[in-house]
Amino acid sequence: MIVKSGCLTGVRKIEIRQRELFLSDDEILVKTHAAGICGQDKNLYNGIIPPSGGLNTEMKRTFDYPYFYGHEAGGIVVEAGKNVRKYKPGDKVIAFAWVETYSDYFKATEDELEPAPEGLNMDLVSLGEPIGCALFSGLCSKIQLGDSVAVIGMGFAGQIIAQVACKKGAHQVIGVDVVERKLELARSLGLSHGINSSETDPLTAILDLTNGRGADVVVEVAGTGEALQLCNDAVKHNGVLVFYSWITQNIHINISRWHNNSLEVVNTGLVHHGVDQRHIWVPQALRPVLQGQIEIEPLITHSYSLDDIGQAMETADRDPSAVKVLLRP
Ligand SMILES: [Zn+2]
Repeated sequence: MIVKSGCLTGVRKIEIRQRELFLSDDEILVKTHAAGICGQDKNLYNGIIPPSGGLNTEMKRTFDYPYFYGHEAGGIVVEAGKNVRKYKPGDKVIAFAWVETYSDYFKATEDELEPAPEGLNMDLVSLGEPIGCALFSGLCSKIQLGDSVAVIGMGFAGQIIAQVACKKGAHQVIGVDVVERKLELARSLGLSHGINSSETDPLTAILDLTNGRGADVVVEVAGTGEALQLCNDAVKHNGVLVFYSWITQNIHINISRWHNNSLEVVNTGLVHHGVDQRHIWVPQALRPVLQGQIEIEPLITHSYSLDDIGQAMETADRDPSAVKVLLRP
């Protein structure tokens, strides 16, 4: 079948190409409802490529141009290969792998998909992977009633994790970002304090808000070494440092406090958790969204037609107000 797909042809160069998609007996063909642009996609767009080989299984093939890509999407099954047992035409599904979702149709194996929860609207199904990952992090973060929580990075995942912290009964949730509009959005969704780290020293601000003790739980969602260092410095003695981002390049941080202050370090990456674990966790992670406890719609700040993928990628990468950009075939 001939499909239209987004293709990287160089650094900051992306275009729509027509190509033929062949379905094997083990694969499922999905008509894309929408696809999201993720921070990792922006990295690839900018030529920041995760190392491949060794035990790194996320990048299934060596990166090379032209590169078809996209990993956040949802849609409806239109065809299933003869070995496929779990899905049939008409089923609503969430992509959970790098299956080249910037496309009007994409194909995936059973393990690369999750069934969409009954009743979830299709825009949210299409964001099932980033929503599920962020919710998983919030649920596994060990945030307790009465905690002071700091979330470093108010992008899509940070916005969700901050909401989870509020709903789990945090005494105060402190958000840190360099973009005022993201802090405003987070405040409208329950954030207690928004710290603009381009204007205020975030470590001083977090210590001031916690009587000099540091936050009980600090969540790293910005994807930089500086953000991880801030988490490391802003968490209290015996506190919990929650790691969320996928930082693919070498970073330099001082982790002496891990030992000296007996920090608990929790790594919360759902996509890399293993397929069986993922099958168990995805319905659990999407449940609060399905029940209307966590707001996602305000986080979808931009939508573009798939044909305008170049513009969509520029917006996702350069517009400071962009939280989640959707592509619609
Ligand atoms: Zn992603």
